[in-house]
Amino acid sequence: MVPFNKPFLVGCEMDYVSRTIKNGKLSGNGHFTKNCQSFFEDRYEYRKCFLTTSCTDALEMAAILLDIQTGDEVIVPSFTFVSTANAFLLRGAEIKFADSLPNHPNIDPKEIEKLISPKTKAIVVVHYAGIACDMDTIMDLANKHSLFVVEDAAQAIDSFYKDKALGSIGNLAAFSFHETKNISCGEGGMLVVNDEQFVERAEIIWEKGTNRAAFWRGEVDKYNWVDVGSSFLPSELTAAFLWAQLQKIDEIQGRRLAVWNGYSDGLKDFNELASPFLPEGSSQNGHMYYLVCSSGDKRNELIEYLNAKNIHAVFHYITLHDSPYFKARYMGDELPNAKRFSDCLVRLPFYYELTDSDQTRIIHEIKEFYD
Ligand SMILES: *Cc1c(COP(=O)(O)O)cnc(C)c1O
Repeated sequence: MVPFNKPFLVGCEMDYVSRTIKNGKLSGNGHFTKNCQSFFEDRYEYRKCFLTTSCTDALEMAAILLDIQTGDEVIVPSFTFVSTANAFLLRGAEIKFADSLPNHPNIDPKEIEKLISPKTKAIVVVHYAGIACDMDTIMDLANKHSLFVVEDAAQAIDSFYKDKALGSIGNLAAFSFHETKNISCGEGGMLVVNDEQFVERAEIIWEKGTNRAAFWRGEVDKYNWVDVGSSFLPSELTAAFLWAQLQKIDEIQGRRLAVWNGYSDGLKDFNELASPFLPEGSSQNGHMYYLVCSSGDKRNELIEYLNAKNIHAVFHYITLHDSPYFKARYMGDELPNAKRFSDCLVRLPFYYELTDSDQTRIIHEIKEFYD
């Protein structure tokens, strides 16, 4: 079976993890955590980075930092992972689900505009497949209505919008290092704070609501409970693993882009399928290659056909607005574009070690299916 995903190991993970064990400093915010955070700050011009145990945790930190309260409204795409909405729902927000663009799963700025009310506090955008949302339009909207923007950049490491790295544009951004993402440590994530007003408080929330980090720096003589917070920081074992992966980020990205281009060259002339597009001036990161079939039935047939040929292709998100959890309380419009991506999108096997011959076979089988 050609799997859908296969975590890639760069080789020095064990070395860094054993070094951590030998050092005897296993809890978080140590040497490797700091290395990883500085790496991201330097390479992508993020103001301040905090490693977290997941992207979900980073989004929950974002919701606390924005002081989301009961009655606040937060605009979120419906075609996304549950955590994008759940993190804000946990703080009491009312979630307003927005539709996708007609030609891409990313949130449609026109749909955002329709949902803005005096209660709106924040817009959460998701850069699906590492492809940038229309950030100029979205930031203009946010500035005009004094709203915060959070980038769910879980899939968007090393992607750019014009000259800016994704994750450097919103007030806050969240990344994932889950094993299905380009750079991974099993389970892991990161909060990026671009807006200076949130930097100090982010560190406190990250450290369980204490000023422990300031204490270690010698800025206060005792550490205290000073705010709300939780245990958001990963252990040094996780950070050591992540640091190993970051050493090889260019190699990983190079290979993933080659895999993406291989699919694109093989499948782009397929009229039946709408393949991924790239907004002008942006770059993508070889996170995912997907096709959109002409109907849900066709999509399911394609997945079954490929499975029968030992190729594991998969669908993706089930729209959140009509999920079993949310359906009964959803009062908004139908979201036809999000629904279509939910019904008709199929993701092809995508990982560093996907061989050229396997990829050639996958492309061939898809062409056979359509013939
Ligand atoms: C993977 C993913 C998440 C969740 O990441 P975790 O690190 O597993 O919490 C959230 N949002 C999007 C868009 C994702 O792709």
